[in-house]
Amino acid sequence: MFALIDGNSFYCSCERAFDPTLRGKPLAVLSNNDGCAIARTQEAKDLGLKMGEPWHLASKRQELKPVIWMSSNYALYGDMSRRMYELLCEEAPRVEPYSIDEMFLDYAGLPGDLLALSARIRERVRTVAKIPTCVGIGPTKTIAKLANKVAKGVRGGDGLCDFARKEEREEAYKTIPLGEVWGLGRASVAKLARRGVESVADFTALRADEVRELLTVTGVRTQAELKGTVCYPFSVSPLTRKSLAVTRSFGKPVLAWPDMEQAIAAYATRAAEKLRRRGLVATAMQVFLRTNEFNSDPKYANQSTFEIEPTADSFALMGDAVRAGRRLWRDGFRYAKAGVVLLDLKPAAELPQELFASRDPERSARLMIALDTVNARYGRQTLKPAVTGLGQSWSMRRQRLSPRYTTHFDEVLLARA
Ligand SMILES: [Mg+2]
Repeated sequence: MFALIDGNSFYCSCERAFDPTLRGKPLAVLSNNDGCAIARTQEAKDLGLKMGEPWHLASKRQELKPVIWMSSNYALYGDMSRRMYELLCEEAPRVEPYSIDEMFLDYAGLPGDLLALSARIRERVRTVAKIPTCVGIGPTKTIAKLANKVAKGVRGGDGLCDFARKEEREEAYKTIPLGEVWGLGRASVAKLARRGVESVADFTALRADEVRELLTVTGVRTQAELKGTVCYPFSVSPLTRKSLAVTRSFGKPVLAWPDMEQAIAAYATRAAEKLRRRGLVATAMQVFLRTNEFNSDPKYANQSTFEIEPTADSFALMGDAVRAGRRLWRDGFRYAKAGVVLLDLKPAAELPQELFASRDPERSARLMIALDTVNARYGRQTLKPAVTGLGQSWSMRRQRLSPRYTTHFDEVLLARA
């Protein structure tokens, strides 16, 4: 059995966890550079705020006047996600993060009432991490995802839906629209609708060869999962990832190389920190930069992907990234975005000893531990390479940012008597 636990309006819930005055109010969190709404509380949805509505338009709509708008605070959301993950690890033997606010739990072999266990987990996440969630249970990931959607759809419900039993879920399938199914995109749903296939029950009733013809093998897998056959097993080591990216759109266009150099160095430094936290090293890298795709600026985009000496050293990665960025840089453009992607990641422990390493690996490891320890204690960027800049004029526009309550000592929540 699997469970899927998913935070309700996750970004908004993170904001509310630290600011009780936001409870019960319509709240929306904006995308990077305060572009559009990417998370809404129920109150904001009730006022008619749509997902993805641009802020500059929505904030002028009369009926949306009561909405409180906030910039996205990924330092906070990432840390709240980690808290949720750690809590779940105490309750279930295996946890697989699927997105920042969604995690699969492996209930295989657990004794007792799984619905009661789910209720307890949900309550702990609510009281300890202060995040309201919904939990769906099912014999496959696809069914657990669907159960989660059903739980979420019941207003004022208990936030739980158990599709463990075949008879119960097949009864429910008759009324669930296909668009709710994980793995079926809009195009697939439209294709099926043209054949009169509208509910999940209609879909599971199709012959597998019909599904294959319409939707290829992915559709066949989705159908099999809905019928209770596991095609997507639990992945035990979600942390061994193949790549790790730090990419951002700039708050304002970057026109000069020194600013771009700062940004690329800062992204490489950030990527290196993430890499070390996972105990990995990178053996290849991609650096890219580009102008805005959507406005009338002259267009330029370029990227470079190359092998590097396996490392998790901030300074080594930064040097490689900046050198690549310099080669890609062309004067005279208004750059909108850049990124550093670390590729072909490997566990640091598996790394063979480099005979002619250009850095002393022990010295590098000691330096990185010192860097990470100081930054963990006093806040990210307390110690950072000077080339990443002090002003960081290129950084994202975030006018409505909440404090980094859980990761910055200067910004922790204060209790006043
Ligand atoms: Mg969610």
